[in-house]
Amino acid sequence: MFPLRLIVLVALVSLVAAGQWGQICAGNPSNKIRGCDGYGCGHYGAPRKSKDGSRRQHKGVDVVCSDGSTVFAPFSGTIERQVIPYKQNNAINNGVQLRGSGFCVKLLYIKPVKYRGQIKKGDKIGVMLPMQSVYRGMTSHVHVENCDRTNPTGNL
Ligand SMILES: [Zn+2]
Repeated sequence: MFPLRLIVLVALVSLVAAGQWGQICAGNPSNKIRGCDGYGCGHYGAPRKSKDGSRRQHKGVDVVCSDGSTVFAPFSGTIERQVIPYKQNNAINNGVQLRGSGFCVKLLYIKPVKYRGQIKKGDKIGVMLPMQSVYRGMTSHVHVENCDRTNPTGNL
């Protein structure tokens, strides 16, 4: 009987391990990932083109979030620093790095409530910036990227 009990235990542990993060954006309780639109797709590993034409991969996941929505901390931790995604400034060029609870992520395209300090899971960490004013027709989203650029999908 031992192997069966072990299998059940492993199954239970992996159930608990999936989706440890809390809701990221108001209006999207299931952390739904952006599908494909005229600019590309929101899943991890989706193809991206650089301005120089070289091919890259999307190293994060895009969690659907309407412009102006409240954005929540997915886990408790410390906001370590501001993250500026673009070299050339625009209306969505802001974000933060959050570390704690065994995780480290960059949350991009938000106006954060602060650039340093503690925050609890579920607390407001910022507001979704006006993505439609920069990329009209794109599904507005928070870009969530693990600091080590591994796939964060299982934590959503
Ligand atoms: Zn993205």
